[in-house]
Amino acid sequence: MDSIGVGGPTQTLPVALTAAVAAGSVPAAGAVVCGGCAGGGVWVADADVRGLGDEELTARLGVIGRAESSLAAMKAAALSEIARRHDTAAAEHAARAQLAASGRSARSDVKLGLALDSLDVTREGLASGVIPGAHAKLIARAAGEGPIDEKHLASVAQQQGYDQFRRTVQRHQADQAADDGKSLLERQRENRSGRVFTSSETGMTVLNAQFDPVIGVQIAAVVAAAERDLYRDEDPDNRPSHHQRTADAIAKLLLEPSAAGRRRGGTTLLIVADYDAVGQGLANARLADGSPVPISELAQLACDAQILPAIFDRATGDLCMGRMCRFATDAQRAALALRDQGCIGCAKSPIYCEAHHIVPWEIGGRTDLANLVLVCNRCHHHIHDDGWQVHRRHATGNYELRPPTRSPPEPTTARTDARGAAPASKR
Ligand SMILES: [Zn+2]
Repeated sequence: MDSIGVGGPTQTLPVALTAAVAAGSVPAAGAVVCGGCAGGGVWVADADVRGLGDEELTARLGVIGRAESSLAAMKAAALSEIARRHDTAAAEHAARAQLAASGRSARSDVKLGLALDSLDVTREGLASGVIPGAHAKLIARAAGEGPIDEKHLASVAQQQGYDQFRRTVQRHQADQAADDGKSLLERQRENRSGRVFTSSETGMTVLNAQFDPVIGVQIAAVVAAAERDLYRDEDPDNRPSHHQRTADAIAKLLLEPSAAGRRRGGTTLLIVADYDAVGQGLANARLADGSPVPISELAQLACDAQILPAIFDRATGDLCMGRMCRFATDAQRAALALRDQGCIGCAKSPIYCEAHHIVPWEIGGRTDLANLVLVCNRCHHHIHDDGWQVHRRHATGNYELRPPTRSPPEPTTARTDARGAAPASKR
């Protein structure tokens, strides 16, 4: 295992400090956090971050991420060992007592520890820092739900961000189940739950519910439509926050259902499917955010919702309107939802997104698919007000938003040594 880190003067420390942490002799507020096993591992030295340039600062975050993964692997191993010696209740109790974990995260951590016992590739990837903890949890959950190709998922986990990987796992589960995602959807339906309660902490009423993706996307579409209604009626100089508007929309839908009923007609549910030329039928149906939908669900959905039928050929599906119209057509929006699967900045569902011209319309930009990307309201502001820019990744062809690079502040004190920062770029 590589020994990587930030902070030159302490490069001989990892082994000793790993041992010290294992022994509990390093105080929580100590200068160094270690992950990995004795003899190596990922380590991060304390540093005055005000003295770091942008690149060093982001590289440092990468190293911290790898150290967190390593620590997550050690935590999982320890909890699983306690559960093996005693039982899961004892392991959860230890997590609550020693990690100050909530009951919920203690259960989730112990579950991960037990699942990783039989997922060798994922466990090793987590320990060496190349698979992030959240990705490992997705793999572990999928493994608990049905057959998976662990090697494949563990390798993809090292290359994809969280949102993309979540969709990859969903699609993979549907493929592996060999029943077009039917059993997966049934399991998700069984896991629906909801509750309404008053928080003892704040006195506020909390609605908490989870639905399968097919019901979920319909609810999200109705809420998004109600939000757009509210947005239209707002005083532009005195707008509520996005979360406040979502709360207002839900309250309106629940308390004034007649107004909500009128809205439903204007709600479009986007389902995308490939045309299988050999089988002469639709295949690989999915919601705009990539969640798989069994083909058998399509007919039923078509009765309940206004579905925008659109089949795209990935190779030739570049829909061009040129300078004929400024705003994206419905078909282009559908194609964008399929291509970008949500906001290219923050992965928000396509329901909440608008089409943005990469080369602005005002200076001759065309309303062609190649000049459009999906962004949410917030990220759209980042582009127009804060100078964020659209980039296309060469490797995947995916679009992403990047903040403007600013010149680093004048260095003050100790700087990171370049040797430590380099491995982070692999993450
Ligand atoms: Zn966004």
